[in-house]
Amino acid sequence: MSAILPGATIGILGGGQLGRMTAMAARSLGYRIQVMDPDPSCPARFVVDACFEGSWDDARAAADLARGCDVITLEIEQIAVASLQAAAKYAPVRPGVAMMEIIQDRVLQKNWLVEQGFPVGEFQTVRSEADLQSAVVTLGSRCFVKSARGGYDGRSQVKIGFDETAISPEATAADAWRLLGQRPAVAEKALDLEKEISVMVARAPNGELKSYPSAANHHEQQILAWSVIPSSIPAVLEAQAQEIARGIAQKMNLEGVLAVELFLTKDGLLVNELAPRPHNSYHASERACVTSQFEQIVRAVCDLPLGDVSVIKPAAIANLLGDLWIGHEPRFDRALAVPGVRVHLYEKHTPRAGRKMGHLSAIGETPEEAIHRVLQAKEFL
Ligand code: ADP
Ligand code: MG
Repeated sequence: MSAILPGATIGILGGGQLGRMTAMAARSLGYRIQVMDPDPSCPARFVVDACFEGSWDDARAAADLARGCDVITLEIEQIAVASLQAAAKYAPVRPGVAMMEIIQDRVLQKNWLVEQGFPVGEFQTVRSEADLQSAVVTLGSRCFVKSARGGYDGRSQVKIGFDETAISPEATAADAWRLLGQRPAVAEKALDLEKEISVMVARAPNGELKSYPSAANHHEQQILAWSVIPSSIPAVLEAQAQEIARGIAQKMNLEGVLAVELFLTKDGLLVNELAPRPHNSYHASERACVTSQFEQIVRAVCDLPLGDVSVIKPAAIANLLGDLWIGHEPRFDRALAVPGVRVHLYEKHTPRAGRKMGHLSAIGETPEEAIHRVLQAKEFL
């Protein structure tokens, strides 16, 4: 038996809200938790046994974290390979280094998806301004240029061809190349999205695999605004989404959890990107499902039996960005008066525009009712 039982210590690389909520679920199961984060007052700080200060490329801090742990997982994909390797000397790192190396580089990730036969939108790898100029022409002027490394919530991304007042696509491409720091990137054709969905998959080292019913996601300014489980897409598409997500997890030899973001276009489903950790679009799993994504990652990395992923009741979440704090403290008292609503705050002390400070969740008899309630509660803030 290789299971890591309650009472053992789990280490998490990253102490943001995902690490915090994972830590809370792990505590409920009786584990001890340590995290590593560059910010000593990171959100997980307040719910863990120990917090090691270290940047994502601080291999020594990663090793210090791992020395006292029985298993290491992560909540952010940008942990340097050297740090993962340093941690792996002391405790198993799940997901493993090989998978992380592919996922943390958009160029490698896209090429891997193509090689393995998974559907992706039209894209080009760009390594120079000239590459980007020709990519814009090939892809048909409107595109998203995304840095190969770093970036989340639409950061390290530039859109080309959307601004009607721009002088020319050529000038915009030159600007984009400069804005992204003249670093390798992928240029993607801007797609007409009918819907965005995601599928969360969990796989344990013993090979057991479970995937959650898909979530439907609504973005504003490239940041997730709200999300609902289940997505209510037609059964045929749901089956395809499940097959794609499970296939990726199998081929990656996943140990842990993996969110697969998918675009639904008129030509069918395309993989947008992979996130090898708990995901914002599955925060509602805490309310909707028998087992939350946070408990599931603990079970997966500890090689325990995976939890039931069925939906008990539809649930939705709405993100609370720092913008909401500008002018006045949000009226959580009013939001909590809406039936089925809960408030989840991450203890981030400085609200900034675009910074995820927390979320609201709501259950409903239908996905529509859950969305309606959570958005109404947000209005009341
Ligand atoms: P992040 O790592 O910031 O989540 P994504 O690549 O997922 O980056 O992009 C964020 C959002 O921007 C997507 O969820 C989608 O709404 C929009 N987007 C990204 N790429 C495209 C594309 N090629 N076509 C249309 N919309 C896109
Ligand atoms: Mg994304």
